[in-house]
Amino acid sequence: MKRSEAASTTFAEVAVDAGPAAGSLGQPSRQGRFAALTLPILLPLLVYYLWLSLDSNGGAAIIPRSGAELISLVRNIPTPTPFAAVMFIAWFSFQAALQALLPGRRVVAPMASNPGGLEYRLNGWLAWWTTWACFSALVAFGWLSPTLLADNFGALLSTANIVAFALSVYLVWRTRHKAQWRSRGVDRFFMGSELNPRIGDFDLKLFLEARPGLIGWCVLDVSLLAKQYELNGAVSASMLLVVAFQVFYVADYFFHEEAILSTWDIKHERLGWMLCWGDLVWVPFVYSLQAVYLLHHPVALSPLAIVGLMVLNSAGYVTFRMANLQKLRFRQDPSAPIWGRPPEIIKTPSGNPLLASGCWGMSRHLNYFGDLLMGLAWCLACGFDQPLVYFYIVFFTLLLVHRERRDDAHCAGAYGTAWEAYRRRVPWRIVPWVY
Ligand code: NDP
Repeated sequence: MKRSEAASTTFAEVAVDAGPAAGSLGQPSRQGRFAALTLPILLPLLVYYLWLSLDSNGGAAIIPRSGAELISLVRNIPTPTPFAAVMFIAWFSFQAALQALLPGRRVVAPMASNPGGLEYRLNGWLAWWTTWACFSALVAFGWLSPTLLADNFGALLSTANIVAFALSVYLVWRTRHKAQWRSRGVDRFFMGSELNPRIGDFDLKLFLEARPGLIGWCVLDVSLLAKQYELNGAVSASMLLVVAFQVFYVADYFFHEEAILSTWDIKHERLGWMLCWGDLVWVPFVYSLQAVYLLHHPVALSPLAIVGLMVLNSAGYVTFRMANLQKLRFRQDPSAPIWGRPPEIIKTPSGNPLLASGCWGMSRHLNYFGDLLMGLAWCLACGFDQPLVYFYIVFFTLLLVHRERRDDAHCAGAYGTAWEAYRRRVPWRIVPWVY
């Protein structure tokens, strides 16, 4: 069974104690309930705040100094327009059609929701290229302005919020007859009920995790790049680097699409507001904020800085990809050599051995370290004028530190003394010799 990375996010997990292993039925803690009540209000406001600061306040954090300034900030929250709604629904339907109709390799993956395994048709790589082919054709024929998304960023953001909330309500409604979920109150909306909900054989979580949001992030990035060209007649090196790094990151995700089937999100996280909103709003509209900033604030990078950023991003990518591939191959064939040598194995009672050499012998999540290096390169490309452009790396560090602890607790429960032996053998959580 392949296993690797999710480029999607469970952003809100930073603030949430989801209780026992997230997919299970334990009652949510008080902290979890508090998060479920507050985050669906606070997080959308945070995204608006970040966007307004980076887009229209010179990239500086807006600090309202009076009630009037606060009201004016709130008034700047864009309303969804009918045009943005049409665009969003067209995009959403197009991506859904690609997932439903394009051919793809069929893979059966073991899932807690279905011990016999769930079948997935993996056509993400084809959907990725089909999207770009259609996008390029529409632009080439003059039927679509490449800056359309950049021009409607705010209205699209508001529309995406509404769709994410509506979908979360639909997910609650789907399980209205199931008593075990009704008892969970607001947590049922926030964390969701079902692990792998489907309509027919259309897997909702696989779709939301990757298609509209993740590809949407890249399409937004490219539109912002086109906008910079329209405004300045040139594209800055910083914008080019950020967009190229991020598009490559997502393309790589689709190239290794099968890997998502064994990620925490797909296997253990229920589908509720947290994932829906994260996938449809947080990923496309927060991960593209570097490009939003660079649109009006092109950063001049010296040749040395460009090379440095490319080296940092490449080092991060190689670390991230190598670690994920090593685990993936190990899960498929536990005897396959790691760096030319027999793998160091820790046997577990469940029969699922642990890899304790190669990247997995350096730290218990070297893949997270690689991901963080890439995120750092994206932020550094925005220069040092505005601290807010570093929001992504700060948030992402918190997310992965928290996620590592959640995963550690999960593995300690699943593997018992074998996990303790692994912890002794590999004491570093994420960064070798540091943390
Ligand atoms: P991992 O892919 O690291 O998976 C952790 C799981 O791997 C454990 O639950 C366990 O699962 C298995 N495992 C752990 N240690 C070992 C070992 N030594 N040998 C064999 N198996 C082991 O975690 P995630 O799913 O959280 O993340 C996947 C990727 O997604 C990462 O690269 C991360 O950086 C990226 N990511 C990106 C985000 C973004 O927003 N861009 C957000 C979150 C993650 P089991 O027991 O089932 O085998």
